Amino acid sequence: MIADIHFQPKYVFAAIEAGCAAVRVNPGNIKQFDDKVKEIARAAKDHGTPIRIGVNAGSLDRRLLQKYGKATPEALVESALWEASLFEEHDFRDIKISVKHNDPVVMIEAYRQLAAQSDYPLHLGVTEAGPAFQGTIKSAVAFGALLSQGIGDTIRVSLSAPPAEEVKVGLQILESLNLKQRGLEIVSCPSCGRAQVDVYKLAEEVTAGLTGMEVPLRVAVMGCVVNGPGEAREADLGVASGNGKGQIFVKGEVIKTVPESKIVETLIEEAMKLAEQMEADGVESGEPSVAVAG
Ligand code: SF4
Repeated sequence: MIADIHFQPKYVFAAIEAGCAAVRVNPGNIKQFDDKVKEIARAAKDHGTPIRIGVNAGSLDRRLLQKYGKATPEALVESALWEASLFEEHDFRDIKISVKHNDPVVMIEAYRQLAAQSDYPLHLGVTEAGPAFQGTIKSAVAFGALLSQGIGDTIRVSLSAPPAEEVKVGLQILESLNLKQRGLEIVSCPSCGRAQVDVYKLAEEVTAGLTGMEVPLRVAVMGCVVNGPGEAREADLGVASGNGKGQIFVKGEVIKTVPESKIVETLIEEAMKLAEQMEADGVESGEPSVAVAG
């Protein structure tokens, strides 16, 4: 449990004493924060509690807002490093830093500058990223740019959506960057004029049928026999559809051809067999994911 404290310094101490695993403090809105650093550092050190200095564009220190005019990358970084230096004065370095902004471009630049100027672990976040669709894209773009360069140690996806969705998006971003082992991956083509089957429906039905499977299985659902076989052959399991039939591939080989009405159940059946085999071989599980090929 990590406490996120704003406004009242007394709650920083309460969170530390309550045994929270870490405490985030927002230096921009905690009353007389600079004067409290000494006490916070001592309490955190006594309890072995890491502190996150969580600078946020929406609540930037007034002094820096006046200096920079708005929450620029430089202003966010200066605020974070200033607060970190106050903790350092009291010999406290168990610190993580975040400099969140709702604009991914500003946020990326702020974290790049911070990474160049400090060795502290960084917690990435695009704050108030918006509703699920927009927020997912903003977060994926920003985290992808930074994590692919080795910048960032923990992440938080902020969506105007239930928290469980934020976690799913975060996991998917990490899997996409190969920072987390992939689980079930459905590779489905976007469909085009060559498609001889309803790919969207097929991909949805296969995904629904395999939901809950946790082994790192790659399943290709392809709409035609032109480009489909190549992708299906590369996956652990796949189908290339056409002429009312589906060629079923397992580990690169066509094992059978079934009528279109039997594609979904055949894929699920073969996926179960492969999953059982993988589990028997001791392959580690990951989380499910869906990718689009084409
Ligand atoms: S596999 Fe490629 S070429 Fe074939 S239907 Fe899908 S998008 Fe079109």
